[in-house]
Amino acid sequence: MPADVHTPDLDAIHERYAEERDKRIRPDGNEQYIEPTGQYAHFLDDPHTEVAERAPLFDEVTVAFIGGGFAGLLTGAKLKQAGIDSVRIIEKGGDFGGTWYWNRYPGAMCDTAAFIYLPLLEETGHMPTEKYTRAPEIRQHCMNIGAQFDLYDDACFSTEVTGLEWDDRPASDGGKRWIIRTNRGDEMRAKYVAMGTGPLHRPKLPGIDGINDYAGHAFHTSRWDYDYTGGDPTGATMTGLADKRVGIIGTGATAVQCIPHLARSCGELFVFQRTPSSIDVRNNSATDPDWFATLEPGWQQQWLENFTTLQTGGFTDEDLVMDGWTDISQRIRDKLLSSPEPDLSPEGMLRAYHDSDDEKMVEVRSRVDQIVDDEITAEKLKPWYRQLCKRPCFHDEYLQAYNEPGTHLVDTDGRGVERIDETGVWANGEHYELDCLIFASGFEVGTSYDRRSGFDTIGRDGVLLSDYWADGMRSLHGMNVHGFPNAFIVGPTQAANLISNIPHNLTEAGETIATIVAHAEASDVDEVEVTRDAEDTWVALLEAGGRSFGGDASCTPGYYNNEGQEISTAQLRNTLGYPDGPVAYFDYIARWREDGEFAGLTFTQA
Ligand code: NDP
Repeated sequence: MPADVHTPDLDAIHERYAEERDKRIRPDGNEQYIEPTGQYAHFLDDPHTEVAERAPLFDEVTVAFIGGGFAGLLTGAKLKQAGIDSVRIIEKGGDFGGTWYWNRYPGAMCDTAAFIYLPLLEETGHMPTEKYTRAPEIRQHCMNIGAQFDLYDDACFSTEVTGLEWDDRPASDGGKRWIIRTNRGDEMRAKYVAMGTGPLHRPKLPGIDGINDYAGHAFHTSRWDYDYTGGDPTGATMTGLADKRVGIIGTGATAVQCIPHLARSCGELFVFQRTPSSIDVRNNSATDPDWFATLEPGWQQQWLENFTTLQTGGFTDEDLVMDGWTDISQRIRDKLLSSPEPDLSPEGMLRAYHDSDDEKMVEVRSRVDQIVDDEITAEKLKPWYRQLCKRPCFHDEYLQAYNEPGTHLVDTDGRGVERIDETGVWANGEHYELDCLIFASGFEVGTSYDRRSGFDTIGRDGVLLSDYWADGMRSLHGMNVHGFPNAFIVGPTQAANLISNIPHNLTEAGETIATIVAHAEASDVDEVEVTRDAEDTWVALLEAGGRSFGGDASCTPGYYNNEGQEISTAQLRNTLGYPDGPVAYFDYIARWREDGEFAGLTFTQA
């Protein structure tokens, strides 16, 4: 048992947190990463589906949705339920699934309990087989939603949108439509367009000198090359790696899940670590069908509300979900309530968070000692920061992987890999010769919306969305933007901002879009648009509330805190959420939908 379990010297621990952070702060922040374009573009190739030839489309649909992940599927399903039949999902992957289409690396699974993470469980009748579902089951669920709601009929896969432009001519001349151009030569038209292009869908590569000189085999984890590695997404042994020296750069949530599989399969595995992740207990379990059968109609909504309440600082009698996220909240609550006179002020809550976090992180570091045999390796795998500084990880096989004789941790003490050459990787002044190099280097988060989408949107009077948002996002409900009629953005930002369960945000957004479009169609209008006033008022409300996902500058750098860089007003706007939190937002937006007033929107007939 390490010394700090018995007598944690909190001052020394916090000092160490600051030191470790300072080691990692770099002036280039987000700019340290390379976009996979130009000479790196092949890192984006789709290894899962061969692109089928098809003639370009010049037709028209009622609603076009850009992105075939949960956002598109949920909005599509809700639109169909609302009686809107003509819905086309345009997706750059070869099928539905979004992040779950791309991320098929071995061991991929979701940390949020399946009963709340997988949407439309009651509608589809699907029983998640385990508490934390694995990627193949999630992908299958996506495909099932697509099939059940007839979303395959009009879908365009392997199709990337390259331009989106509002045609403002009168409807009688064929205008009041969006023109959608794609890399397949399409020029489709849609009365309404919605975008669910996801915050974490564009892979990024570390800006390491010589990255393009590497002559061995290389890929990003979101484009896993099973042709090379052997094995499959269910975790079968990767026989192609048995005699190979494999390197993996990155030790975030993705790497944590695939490293145990690599450790079992590779001749030798070299894990290049810049910052260790915090690894708490996973404790997955199979679902008992008898128990599942006892759930009453309406259970999923009840579970969603229960989770969101507990996870965002509220109180309920029961924790229905009991996953890694509600555990964090539960500990903070216990800490607060264990005091004879609980201090429920924001300062009191923050103190409770810090105290419970100190305890948890001592536990997390102590778990490393309990599991990892080699003391030096164990020491290097310990995270020295607060649990929520980086994406917390939960795994019962990751730390064990370092006990495999062929697995080597190459810790770089916060500096990262030095450079890459034709035959391998340089770290700590040493060269590691590799047959295969895997980039577990994550996805773009802090970059602009149009850069992440891969196209810009041209609204009324030729205004570019990127220009309109030059000083940060502006919207009503994170969804409607003035000057961009009949367009909808789908995501958590400037709305609930519930990060621990993204699909909940998307379900509500889908419902809202379906309600607006159904109303517009029933009223036979040409345009739906938010007024500038309503948009200003919404942004001002959010700014005054100051509830953002801007992260904690005292944390070790990462995408949770803009890589430790100061956050500009524009960046802050891009991460704002409803001031009273997700539960209040979901309640607010349900009332907004139901009262039929559509406050803030104008519906016009040209
Ligand atoms: P991350 O951005 O979390 O991790 C990227 C990793 O690459 C970090 O460890 C980073 O180190 C490392 N890195 C970057 N540059 C270098 C360098 N020059 N040298 C060495 N290492 C480097 O990406 P992930 O794909 O792991 O995860 C992205 C997100 O996807 C998660 O945060 C989560 O939201 C989601 N996800 C969820 C899962 C789940 O539900 N379990 C599973 C997988 C992903 P450093 O930390 O120092 O920056």
